[in-house]
Amino acid sequence: MNAVSHVDVIIVGAGISGIGSAYHLQQQCPGKSYAVIEMKDSFGGTWETHKYPGVRSDSDLYTFGYRFKPWIGKPIATGQQILDYLGEVIEENGIGEHIFYGHRITGCSFSRDTDLWTVQATRLADGAEVSFTCNFLWMCQGYYDHEMPYLPPEWQERGLADYRGDFVHAQLWDPDYDYAGKRILVIGSGATAATVVPAFAEQAAHVTMLQRSPTYFFCKENNSELADRLREVGIDEPTIHRVVRQQVMYDMSVITQRCIDEPDVVVEELRELVRAYTGKPDFEFEPHFAPKYRPWQQRLAFCPEGDVFRCAVEGKLTVVTDTIDHFTQKGVRTSSGKDIEADMIVAATGFKLSVMGDIPFMVDGEAIDWHECVTYRGMMFTGVPNMAWVMGYFRASWTLRVDMMGDFVCSLLNQMDAKGASRVEVAFRPEDAGMEIGPWIEADNFNPGYLMRDLGKLPRAGNRPEWRHNQDYWAEKEQIPAINLDGEEFVYSSRASRGAKEPDLAETA
Ligand SMILES: Cc1cc2nc3c(=O)[nH]c(=O)nc-3n(C[C@H](O)[C@H](O)[C@H](O)COP(=O)(O)OP(=O)(O)OC[C@H]3O[C@@H](n4cnc5c(N)ncnc54)[C@H](O)[C@@H]3O)c2cc1C
Repeated sequence: MNAVSHVDVIIVGAGISGIGSAYHLQQQCPGKSYAVIEMKDSFGGTWETHKYPGVRSDSDLYTFGYRFKPWIGKPIATGQQILDYLGEVIEENGIGEHIFYGHRITGCSFSRDTDLWTVQATRLADGAEVSFTCNFLWMCQGYYDHEMPYLPPEWQERGLADYRGDFVHAQLWDPDYDYAGKRILVIGSGATAATVVPAFAEQAAHVTMLQRSPTYFFCKENNSELADRLREVGIDEPTIHRVVRQQVMYDMSVITQRCIDEPDVVVEELRELVRAYTGKPDFEFEPHFAPKYRPWQQRLAFCPEGDVFRCAVEGKLTVVTDTIDHFTQKGVRTSSGKDIEADMIVAATGFKLSVMGDIPFMVDGEAIDWHECVTYRGMMFTGVPNMAWVMGYFRASWTLRVDMMGDFVCSLLNQMDAKGASRVEVAFRPEDAGMEIGPWIEADNFNPGYLMRDLGKLPRAGNRPEWRHNQDYWAEKEQIPAINLDGEEFVYSSRASRGAKEPDLAETA
């Protein structure tokens, strides 16, 4: 066991959230010591994990990038371009020296006596158990299991083991795998499937996409006319970033509202784009491209220049909308009796939700059951002091919330210092008494499979704006900066006022 090391703040995870949070902490709380603890050997999180052909963002990088670091490039970026961008942020801001790579956090426990978190980690290189303490825990561990993707459990009963070809989940794709000339079956139809299908189609003998239900696709060229024009006339990159970001956010707010107000019109517009990109005015949408849900209940899958549809029109892609009856030695037999033969099956079946990285949490020796906690705006949790979780947006770019929460958490830390507080936690106000408590998110608001499958693992929400994560960037961009940190929902306490002894700490990072 190593000596206990202490820092003011521990950031869990070196993905886009953790790196952005480290930047904001350095900028807005310059006196604070901190460490970023990351189980992988490198930064990037999602962009380090996913290596399948064509891996790219679904959002534009003017908003998926940070507000403080201009994005210079095409709006939709490859996984490698995102990693390069994050690498620059780390390098330019000296964040690297604070990151402990190869440390898997295995437990976090808070003591209301000392007002400290003890964070246990395994150093993966040698298996050593390492222990840190900190005043504040900033959870940036994402929302899904990086090592174990989601596979429908019934696939085992349906004879997955009988299949004799190669089988892989997209999340675990080995970039050295040679798929040239193979018949590939992709099972799934979300953003991942939309990405891999055109990439596979370039070299594969044929691609089949088997989907249980269709997805909406937004076909567009991967460029920003505004950014290109501003560059052409010599505007500086920080200004271009700010202006294009604003334009994208404005356009997103309009489309989100229109999806609610006039979904049928939006669906027709999405179809018109498909017709234009395929050059087929009679493109047949039923049954494979006609989803049953509203266009914004799940993330719209970006489709650069209609590539998925062009693959279908060119005969490189066959779409089958059906369910799996069973796996065969050569592929899949569907419920309607169709046999699909494939040399390789790629599961694009999504994520396994992981709440707080599935790390066991304790407060004063009591295990935390997250479902018993109620969230404060999707950032903090009742009964869990000195902790915040960065959960981004699903409909807008995730990172918009990273920047916003960076401001919030830093203000909270500065407020604690101004008050001489060693502890802050959220608690119901008198007016919250009897508040209705429900799930983290309602199914008719946003309902991807990984959330719906595991809603019972997530914290719950109240029916007042303070006690829910509303997934509404446009509301939150006004609400979060206006939070009154002296409000009754924030309960501060100090060791000194309780007569508790100051802990003896070894500063490290
Ligand atoms: C393929 C793909 C494409 C996506 N595209 C977009 C997009 O275009 N736009 C968008 O808004 N969102 C997109 N998303 C959602 C995306 O996950 C988030 O936007 C964002 O990258 C999440 O960043 P994060 O840092 O919060 O979490 P992650 O990227 O999940 O990173 C979390 C980090 O925490 C580490 N960690 C977890 N548990 C522990 C532990 N116990 N100990 C130590 N370290 C730990 C992990 O190793 C990881 O590095 C996409 C997701 C995927 C999978």
